[in-house]
Amino acid sequence: MGQALVLGSENFRIPRKFVGRDAVEAEVHRFRTSLDRVCRDIENHEILVGEQLGEQYAAIFSAHLQLARDPRLVGEVETLITRDAYSPEYAVSRTLRRFAEQMQNLGDKYLAERALDIFDLEKRLLRELLGQSREELNNLTAPVIVLAHDLTPGETAMLNTDFVLGFATEVGGHTSHTAILAGALEIPAVVGLGRCLAGVAGGETVILDGDHGQVLIDPDEATLERYRDSQARNLRVSERLESLETLESKTLDGQRVHIFGNIEFPEEVQHCIKRGADGVGLYRTEFLYLGGNQEPSEEDHYQAYCQVLQACGERPVVIRTLDIGADKIPARIRDRFADSQNPMLGLRSIRLSLQSTPLFKVQLRAILRAAVYGNARVMFPLVSSLLEFRQAKMILMDVMEDLEDAGVEFKRDLPVGMMVEVPSAVILAEEFAREVDFFSIGTNDLIQYTLACDRSDPSVANLYRSGDPAILRMIQTVLKAAEKYGKPVTVCGQMSSDPRFVALLLGLGLRQLSATPHSIPRLKEVVRNLSIPEAERIARHAASLDLARDVEHYLLGELGRICPDLVVWTNIKICFHNQPPSWRCWLWSEKETHKQLVTLNRDGFLKQERT
Ligand code: PEP
Ligand code: MG
Repeated sequence: MGQALVLGSENFRIPRKFVGRDAVEAEVHRFRTSLDRVCRDIENHEILVGEQLGEQYAAIFSAHLQLARDPRLVGEVETLITRDAYSPEYAVSRTLRRFAEQMQNLGDKYLAERALDIFDLEKRLLRELLGQSREELNNLTAPVIVLAHDLTPGETAMLNTDFVLGFATEVGGHTSHTAILAGALEIPAVVGLGRCLAGVAGGETVILDGDHGQVLIDPDEATLERYRDSQARNLRVSERLESLETLESKTLDGQRVHIFGNIEFPEEVQHCIKRGADGVGLYRTEFLYLGGNQEPSEEDHYQAYCQVLQACGERPVVIRTLDIGADKIPARIRDRFADSQNPMLGLRSIRLSLQSTPLFKVQLRAILRAAVYGNARVMFPLVSSLLEFRQAKMILMDVMEDLEDAGVEFKRDLPVGMMVEVPSAVILAEEFAREVDFFSIGTNDLIQYTLACDRSDPSVANLYRSGDPAILRMIQTVLKAAEKYGKPVTVCGQMSSDPRFVALLLGLGLRQLSATPHSIPRLKEVVRNLSIPEAERIARHAASLDLARDVEHYLLGELGRICPDLVVWTNIKICFHNQPPSWRCWLWSEKETHKQLVTLNRDGFLKQERT
């Protein structure tokens, strides 16, 4: 719970927002400063275009400049700020849109087209004004909940968690890298809300409910009280689970299950150790490139890997080579990807490494050198053909030879594995199994490529499901191939961070999971309350269902039975199978101080709510 900080975007409608009476003067000053900057920018364009293309083209910018300096327009914006205490963003948007609409309605085609110039000026001014709110993010002094249309993984990585309590975005999916980073930063987040921020001004109290994917703006006292209750309950459960840290992750019948952590930053290794992780199952090294402004040197790589390996001691650390591309593109090489029509299918990951051998070699040198200090394994991401795996391995061998020639200390016999996250890798799992030392199933991408669903697109989020029977069958295929050749398999996609899937994955035969560090205690709790025969029974039943929705509902029900604490509303038992189209029931708060009448639709979502 906290105050909203809305990161606007010039492409979206600006909400009606007021500023305090005593801030009016400062806000007018802010508007004038922004206007001056925009005018200087237009002047520069005018000069540049005049020199390069000629005066007639430069005239376009003189027209813009005239518009920006029009006293009537500027006066109207300032009046809205001083008289009505509107925020400069809203005053600009309202005034310029009104001018543009008047122009469009004059019935003259030429003038109607000039309205576009006004929209363009609006955009420039808003970008300048709103840019300051992005700037504000770097200079926070009080806790906020960030609400934005989008946050790139790079921006998310830079959030200052001393003040950012959580964030919500209109776009994104629960396995998008922005969401994964929320896990890394250990802050709550809701992504893929859809367009909804136009009505939020900022400064309001916000409840961010990551368990249910809801954001409540300006909630009433009863709602706040309800959430305080559930916050206290979550805290109690978390505290109890954190105490499992020193206990072994073993099923009721004594089967050891290894639970590793997924990390993005070297510091996170401490989050893993604190939760009793068996090591690091996935180190997403590309975040070395996404945080800062400079390309990391071999030394930067080396230091980061040493930090993780040394902290883990004997425990294994799987260092995944760069997975740059798609949504993880460092700003300084963005141009290289500009023409890609479909970045998820484009130059990404191992493909990029194989096309940029010097870059790849820098990383491999650092991994091999750092490997001396711990139990390192190297893993290639997004491998889609045997040739790719062989090429990557060959480059690794080359690097070993170079290091040997130069007399540099390194580790030669480190295991080399691959991510299974492309359907072709599943289909050829047997062939791969002969050549790799281990597999790690990346369900985040495997789901997106198998079900043809963008993992970051909220409009297909209902189709993007870990419980899809096609995904279960793919996991079975990989396990079978790996078993035949005696190769270990881990699941490191977000599926294995979700306690609902633990019984299923163990029942299918997995004995290693790699998950977001903060989910480790919950996963351990499930493992410790489950026997392998029971997990196998659950997996058999789940695999016999033909709809993803039924699989997921079934697994949720089983989880509620095995570990009631881990299901948020533990005091209701709902059977989702064969229920009537809508189902009404009372939900009681944990202390039974209040209740709500709710209606559930067939998917188990609340349709309406009455306190
Ligand atoms: C995956 O695809 O499941 C995975 C773990 O890799 P990433 O999320 O980094 O794409
Ligand atoms: Mg992936």
